[in-house]
Amino acid sequence: MKPKIAIFSLTSCEGCSLAILELEDQLLDLLGAVEIVNFREGMTERAWDIDVGFVDGAVSTPQDDEEVRHFRAHCKTLVAIGSCACLGGINTLKHYQSGGATRDEGAAHAAGGNGRVAEYRRYVYGENAEWFATTPARPISAVVAVDYQLPGCPMVKEEFVELVKCLLIGKPFRLPETAVCVECKRRGSRCLYEMGIICFGPITRAGCNAICPAYGSKCEGCRGLVSPDAIAAAGINLREQYRVDLNEALADLRLYGAYQEALLP
Ligand code: SF4
Ligand code: SF4
Ligand code: SF4
Repeated sequence: MKPKIAIFSLTSCEGCSLAILELEDQLLDLLGAVEIVNFREGMTERAWDIDVGFVDGAVSTPQDDEEVRHFRAHCKTLVAIGSCACLGGINTLKHYQSGGATRDEGAAHAAGGNGRVAEYRRYVYGENAEWFATTPARPISAVVAVDYQLPGCPMVKEEFVELVKCLLIGKPFRLPETAVCVECKRRGSRCLYEMGIICFGPITRAGCNAICPAYGSKCEGCRGLVSPDAIAAAGINLREQYRVDLNEALADLRLYGAYQEALLP
């Protein structure tokens, strides 16, 4: 019997779910190997006997909180796909509505302190704010147990296919444990620090083939932070080689929620 697969979305652009539909050549092979039983973007049927559930989007409303618990209860294996589901993603930008948050303030905002929830609710919905419930944005692992994470904005399609293959044949799956810089050097891109641009490649988990620096854009950390050891080493190297203080630079690491990850002890 084919494993039953579901694809769910919480608060997000749903780009990671769409990335599955964009698998093109591989989509037919995938459909031959699994049975998709619940996928709002691709079908009308709904079934709740699920072997593997993939979830994109952050927990950013009370409804998300309820839904992700429901998904967990009906999926034998639960996979977070994309930065929103793995880190909170761009949804976490709402924690910084007043700007200029320090690391400590950022932690308080992420925890929903300082009345920030009411502030950004008013900012977005104006006089109708009370119609739209919202909460601080969190990764789904903050609410339920998650078996695998596929970070990135959007997730890396090849990594998704690799995980599905591993699950089908019972092989262990692991994310890369090196930094984006390793892939960047391998593909021969010019380092942005040589041009005076601060890039988060030294502290971000590899797996995207360093696509942003390859096109001249700094890494914004969409795949989250690599190991604490790599972060400590990067801090020393950046200070010695480029006179950049990593702790100060981290204030810019907000786009995908990795800043909040950096706040963790
Ligand atoms: S990680 Fe990016 S592409 Fe995926 S759902 Fe979130 S915003 Fe969209
Ligand atoms: S451009 Fe960024 S990812 Fe590439 S080597 Fe430099 S710091 Fe690392
Ligand atoms: S280079 Fe950085 S921001 Fe760009 S896709 Fe890779 S991890 Fe994400």
